[in-house]
Amino acid sequence: MINKEISFSSWESWFPSERSHLIIAGPCSAESPAQLTSVASHLVANDIGIMRAGVWKPRTRPNHFEGNGTQALKWLSDIKKDHKLIVAIEVASAKHVEEALHAEMDILWLGARTTVNPFLVQEIADALKGTDIPILVKNPINPELALWEGAIERIYQSGNKKIVAVHRGFSSYQRSKYRNSPAWHIAIELKSHYPTLPLICDPSHIAGNRDLVFEVSQKALDLGYDGLMIETHPDPANALSDADQQVTPESLSSILAQLHIKEKHSTDEVFISQLEELREKIDHVDQELMEVLAMRKNLIEQIGDYKRQNNVTVFQLERWNEILRSRAKWAERKNINPQFVQDLYKRIHEESIKLQTGIAEMEGKK
Ligand code: PEP
Ligand code: MN
Repeated sequence: MINKEISFSSWESWFPSERSHLIIAGPCSAESPAQLTSVASHLVANDIGIMRAGVWKPRTRPNHFEGNGTQALKWLSDIKKDHKLIVAIEVASAKHVEEALHAEMDILWLGARTTVNPFLVQEIADALKGTDIPILVKNPINPELALWEGAIERIYQSGNKKIVAVHRGFSSYQRSKYRNSPAWHIAIELKSHYPTLPLICDPSHIAGNRDLVFEVSQKALDLGYDGLMIETHPDPANALSDADQQVTPESLSSILAQLHIKEKHSTDEVFISQLEELREKIDHVDQELMEVLAMRKNLIEQIGDYKRQNNVTVFQLERWNEILRSRAKWAERKNINPQFVQDLYKRIHEESIKLQTGIAEMEGKK
């Protein structure tokens, strides 16, 4: 459901830029003044106005480099002044917020390991009261939309409307080619609840591997994302954190140059009228789909009555297996993904069991 009460500032209102997208680049961690200077000069030369760098690094295991902390804040203040760049860092506690504000950092972000923790997010939101510094909120580690939305709402309730959601993928047990699997549908749902919320993608943490950064970035742009945050390091292989996924400043430029940017809307009248026509057809098809679902529901109610009268159980395993098998086969014949159809039938079957046992009726009365 669209949340009409909440409306966010557009990113262009606080970061006027020649670019059509909000581009943030810089190293995973601020390692040294020389490293920061090297990236900063490249960003300035390529019209990328926002530099990221981690100051406090949340590492999964102890005894790893955990960031240069307070001294890195000083390096970033110098970078900001010397290169006229906007600087963005991660904060994970009220103390980090205080130090970051004191050092005049321009943008703060909440990492995935922070978004997941409502206590920490609230503590950060309280520390931000009275400021209007832009805040990026990364998705939580686990694919739970409510946690992501909850973190955004906590920041919003502290009085800040300059919020940007960042999709950085989700941890998963299943092995995949990504370090953190993207869940594009979760981000789309977030956007549908908060249409004014700017949404950017962090392809680096999704990919976990620099060779995939381009394709993930392209996918995000194809889906209409407002921007990208790309980890960039002058010597990625020797980076102190996330060495596999960072790209050199030169590759950053080539990735940005090769990305195909599609328009969100078109003013071409032929295109608009053809799109309208296709959308009308989809509306008709969906109405027919609804008729078919209503017919199916009616049949299910009849079967339910019949089983009840004859004292037969609602769930019949063989029939269910047969449905799954046959529908997958029918799907294949129509060139539809059989896995998708099986998933759809699981939902349909769940509902039909509810209908036959009267659970749906009880839930409707709650
Ligand atoms: C980072 O941006 O370097 C970082 C630690 O990100 P995440 O919270 O997405 O893991
Ligand atoms: Mn990183």
